[in-house]
Amino acid sequence: GSAEQLRDGMTGRRPQPLAGDPPAEVAEVDPYRGADAHYGTLAALLADGRPEAVIDTLEASGLRGMGGAGFPTGRKWRFTRAATGTPRTVVCNADESEPGTFKDRLLLERAPHLVIEAMIIGGWVIGASHGIIYLRHEYEHARAVLEKALQRARADGHIGRNIRGSGFDFELDLFISPGGYIMGEETALLEGLEDRRGEPRNKPPFPTQVGFNGGPTLMNNVETFAMIPRILQGGAEGWKAHGREGYGGLKFLSVSGDVAAPGVYCVAAGTPIREVIERAGGMADGRSLYAFCPGGASTPFLPATLADTAVDFDALAEAGAGLGSGALFVVGSGRDLLDLAIQQVRFFRNESCGKCVPCRTGSAQAVRKLEAAHAGAPEEGLTDLLEALDETLVQTSICGLGQVALTPIMGLLRHFPDEAARLRRPHD
Ligand code: NAD
Ligand code: SF4
Repeated sequence: GSAEQLRDGMTGRRPQPLAGDPPAEVAEVDPYRGADAHYGTLAALLADGRPEAVIDTLEASGLRGMGGAGFPTGRKWRFTRAATGTPRTVVCNADESEPGTFKDRLLLERAPHLVIEAMIIGGWVIGASHGIIYLRHEYEHARAVLEKALQRARADGHIGRNIRGSGFDFELDLFISPGGYIMGEETALLEGLEDRRGEPRNKPPFPTQVGFNGGPTLMNNVETFAMIPRILQGGAEGWKAHGREGYGGLKFLSVSGDVAAPGVYCVAAGTPIREVIERAGGMADGRSLYAFCPGGASTPFLPATLADTAVDFDALAEAGAGLGSGALFVVGSGRDLLDLAIQQVRFFRNESCGKCVPCRTGSAQAVRKLEAAHAGAPEEGLTDLLEALDETLVQTSICGLGQVALTPIMGLLRHFPDEAARLRRPHD
């Protein structure tokens, strides 16, 4: 299957095939036992007829956007429902491409019915009769699974005209991304859907107001959608009760790097990172924990001393990183952390769409200078220059890629004096 095509971008090690993942990981968020029960939440909601109640439950649940930014989901649904204009559209961003992130693939392959159902519910809530799943082009197995699930949902009357006699119509299409990391940025994605070159738009306006073809668009990540049927079935309090230490809900993590059993894990919010590493088999090859990147390349490396931080957007932000897309990349002792960080910056340089000059030329300049430093010849004043460049990129980039392009290096400067020393001349 497609597991063969995926490699852990930084260690080159193949992640375990998804078939090896415990089925319990997805079952935790699937409220249904057996395919006959699928779409039961939708049926109950259509019979009940109160779309506002859905938004209230999502807001009370505290669910946040699992694509990486953690924007409150209920608020996004409320904004989109309140926005005026047409066409109204629901979009699932399934263009998962943050290095180290592969949890959406598992959800699409194992629980497509949850994503589809939540999108239909979203359409009903915001008054949209059209949805689009925007899928990463390499996800061929997920595509086949989704096509089948869509066919079945249509045949069973969950998609189409006058769904369950409610008068609500909803069509759902699958759109394959033309490829490229930047196409997953939500506004570049919209450009792609509208058949234009995939470059981000300025925000605001946000897609909730001006999205696909100029109309209000409800766009969420795969995991965010996948959690919604369970939340609506069990209620906001039931969902929050899954968390630990005062945190609420569940979170899927893609765990990779120097752990014995890389894979997708569903953990209670609030679980300490250290425990997640243990669940993933502990450190591999007798290494000790040196560093970890909690949320993909957009979040900085943190030192082992912060491994007791809870899996939670706010807790990790306080620790100086963020939960990002939940791609926990674990680095063991003996690894060249500077090299790993430079690889991440190189990734952003390669994937920059080129629209903003500082991102395009700044990322290239940073890679050149970092490579020289890695080879043992850091230029004078390099760390000051990198700090200034980072500030410029944060201030002037119109999208997240440019804003975080130097984050991997900033993390090293902040938390890893030994690595930072490699970027300085002895007299700097
Ligand atoms: P963002 O903070 O600009 O927006 C987050 C979401 O909230 C967006 O959908 C945005 O439209 C919405 N939003 C924010 N303010 C709003 C408002 N006032 N009204 C209505 N909607 C509002 O972040 P972003 O640039 O969309 O995403 C950045 C994140 O993406 C990073 O944290 C990174 O981790 C993640 N990322 C994920 C992947 C992946 O493969 N999953 C890839 C790259 C980046
Ligand atoms: Fe493109 Fe970089 Fe500008 Fe984002 S910040 S729009 S990737 S040039």
